[in-house]
Amino acid sequence: MKQIALLLSIFIFSFHNGRRLEPPAGKAEHYPKNIILMIGDGMGLAQVTAGFYANGEKLNLEQFPATGLIKTHASKNLITDSAAGATAFACGCKTYNGAIGLTAGKKPCPTILEQAEAFGLSTGLVTSSSITHATPASFIAHVSDRQYMEEIATWFLQTDIDLFIGGGMKYFTNRKTDQRNLYAELQEKGYLVSDFSGYTLDKGIPDSGKPFAWFSSLEEPASVADGRDYLPLAARLAPEFLSKRSDKGFFLMIEGAQIDWACHANKADNAVLEMLDFDRAIGEALEFAKKDGNTLVIVTADHETGGMALLRGENKQSLNIKFNTDYHTASLVPVFAYGPGAELFNGLYDNTDIYVKIRSLFRLPAM
Ligand code: MG
Ligand code: ZN
Repeated sequence: MKQIALLLSIFIFSFHNGRRLEPPAGKAEHYPKNIILMIGDGMGLAQVTAGFYANGEKLNLEQFPATGLIKTHASKNLITDSAAGATAFACGCKTYNGAIGLTAGKKPCPTILEQAEAFGLSTGLVTSSSITHATPASFIAHVSDRQYMEEIATWFLQTDIDLFIGGGMKYFTNRKTDQRNLYAELQEKGYLVSDFSGYTLDKGIPDSGKPFAWFSSLEEPASVADGRDYLPLAARLAPEFLSKRSDKGFFLMIEGAQIDWACHANKADNAVLEMLDFDRAIGEALEFAKKDGNTLVIVTADHETGGMALLRGENKQSLNIKFNTDYHTASLVPVFAYGPGAELFNGLYDNTDIYVKIRSLFRLPAM
């Protein structure tokens, strides 16, 4: 019922507001055609700093001309989880922890991905977690609890998303709640779908004219320490692919998911590896944006994880990293922006404003 209501609202929205609104006067100097939103899950300033010093004092993040800070609290809790954090980016509303694409009152909220799709832009989700995990899920699904992974998977059939890359194939192919094979359903819907055994991304994405889905693993993808290496490559391929799918532009979300997991486990070395992997993905997105000239890249985090502190080490290169918790903290987290409209991301504001800014830069009306 909720799904029907949402589809109906998107339909009415597209029907009545099919014309893009004029940009609000005096906002951005230039408007981007494409927007790449990159979310470092758990990436607070300490995680960025640790990556910086562990990497000989350089990060791709230094190339961003605009920087900001966001408040990450959930509707009732000071400390957000990744579901409420991503729903704030996707829908522009503060919601309860665990909510996937729902308001605090449990109503489905149209996501920026759905709105971009309704306006004929191409859309994509790339993550180093399962594709049904809270962060990517909040851009495409409307589910009362992040743990309902199989229910989240069904939403990938309800949106005409052009590309998704991540783990979690079992939620599509080996379902406990019903007998559906969503992998086969995606193929029937016209997707070029592949699993990790049939196809590797280093061959590039085939130019088949079809939307593309690639599963990196049956369950959660490995950590960088255990050999995962597809995120930077996916960040290089996805913008090229999406830019060919629509001449109106694209919306792409890329997540570095496992900075958070390493910090939950209080594993400093892994946190640094995941941070640097995400920074390489950032470098790939920046490369595309520089060539393209019409692409805005925004990098931010849903929250900080671990209360990471950088203490005095033996020298500049030897980091002494300590954690204060195995959960998230309420610290402000950074925002970096590059490209047309980047100046809107300077300052200190709420995580929900990320959605508002993206929507206004795409010139999509409020829903
Ligand atoms: Mg996440
Ligand atoms: Zn977490």
